[in-house]
Amino acid sequence: MIESPLLEKLTGYIGGRWTDNEQGSTFDVYNPATGQVIAQVASMSESEVKAAVDAGKSALRLTSPYSIETRRKWLEDIRDALKSNKEEVGRILCLEHGKPLNEAQGEVDYAAGFFDYCSRHIQALDAHTLPEKPKDCTWTVHYRPIGVTGLITPWNFPIGMIAKKLSAALAAGCPSVIKPASETPLTMIALFKLMDKHVNLPDGMVNLVMGKASVIGKVLCESPDVPMLSFTGSTEVGRKLILDTADQIKKLALELGGNAPFIVFDDADLDAAADNLIANKFRGGGQTCVCANRVFVHEKVMDAFGEKLAERVNKMTVGDGIAGDVDLGPLINKAGFDKVKRHLEDALDKGASLVAGKQPGDLGDGHLFFPPTVVSGVTPGMCCSREETFGPLVPMASFRTEDEVIAAGNDTEFGLASYVFTADVERAQRVAAGLRFGHVGWNTGTGPTPEAPFGGMKASGTGREGGLEGLFEFVEAQTVPRGF
Ligand code: ADP
Repeated sequence: MIESPLLEKLTGYIGGRWTDNEQGSTFDVYNPATGQVIAQVASMSESEVKAAVDAGKSALRLTSPYSIETRRKWLEDIRDALKSNKEEVGRILCLEHGKPLNEAQGEVDYAAGFFDYCSRHIQALDAHTLPEKPKDCTWTVHYRPIGVTGLITPWNFPIGMIAKKLSAALAAGCPSVIKPASETPLTMIALFKLMDKHVNLPDGMVNLVMGKASVIGKVLCESPDVPMLSFTGSTEVGRKLILDTADQIKKLALELGGNAPFIVFDDADLDAAADNLIANKFRGGGQTCVCANRVFVHEKVMDAFGEKLAERVNKMTVGDGIAGDVDLGPLINKAGFDKVKRHLEDALDKGASLVAGKQPGDLGDGHLFFPPTVVSGVTPGMCCSREETFGPLVPMASFRTEDEVIAAGNDTEFGLASYVFTADVERAQRVAAGLRFGHVGWNTGTGPTPEAPFGGMKASGTGREGGLEGLFEFVEAQTVPRGF
């Protein structure tokens, strides 16, 4: 069992207090590297989730709002608490997620960056008066907190994803009811421990609920006291949330699946493209919604690029992330492992060739370590072209023309991240404009950052996280024209 000063209580947190888990129901948390149960965490009842919403409601202040200075201090204090506890939070994250320890600790820094950004830009949410006087009135625009928000996060970035949402919610003055993924609740408990100890938040401003997604989702979708949900996860659950909130017309910020194209033109710096692809693709074991899912390489450089990639991939190490010196940890669970294996089998059955990695039959049983794998000769009908693989499989397809590759890149219901490698400025601009993706990395595989708005087009979702756009997600613009 995991031991940590940040994990004294493994229960929810409502109205400024840890809950008692009176009904005694728990769920197990596993270390995916060892398969061992490392914690048993309280599974909360419907009435507890309702109590969390009520606590949030009591912390919402409309007529005497929390000042900008107060909100900025909350954000700064969370940032500082994360930074000074980076090692321990990262260790917990590594143990429940499996990603390498340095990557896990880097994610804590990344998370702190969102609180920092919001603290530095919170002034943007101040009211302002329009320079014009339409209809002979003086118009003031206020940014009111939207209300109690439900923040639902996935397991792939246990601290990064909540940081994006919570930083903007607190900047806006919105109380929240937070539900982490059941695979990775411990990092969230650690965050709550830090907020409880180091941040002077009003009781009810942040509430933690864990357990059955159906129970928690139902309360958050049905409660008239929760006007907004911010969700990161699968498109399937995103669709369900849209349906389940239709009666209430809630605001939904949805960051859903991706199917990122990574395009390498024949004039690209192939070493830089290969290095960026490695960094982009294998972060978190390939279990990120922004990682390259389809790699399109110009036919003239396909062989050269494939060799450079294989050379790098063959040097990568896979193992228990806590050891500290591995490139890739285990996948999150058996379903995740089986999906990557199915995509590899399907691609090879339909004519792709293995460039690096193992044949499916040589992958071994009873563990979640999937080696980095590269296949070429991928076609649009293969599962790895249609679905998000969420694992360390790089499928490569060749292309000839710019128009053809833009069309191929867009041939997906998703529109989150994409990447293009070319030395030609004008071509890069044309391709970026043609790709229906919220993020287009040009000669970089870098993903979201606190300073820039990030989000999806099409079935990848609605709304933006990061940047000023992310801050404004949690407020309602209210106009007050003054007529005398
Ligand atoms: P993933 O495939 O990455 O696990 P999911 O969409 O299944 O993504 O889960 C993302 C988050 O949404 C998790 O916290 C999960 O528990 C939660 N979730 C799943 N189903 C629902 C639901 N019906 N209502 C609310 N939250 C849900």
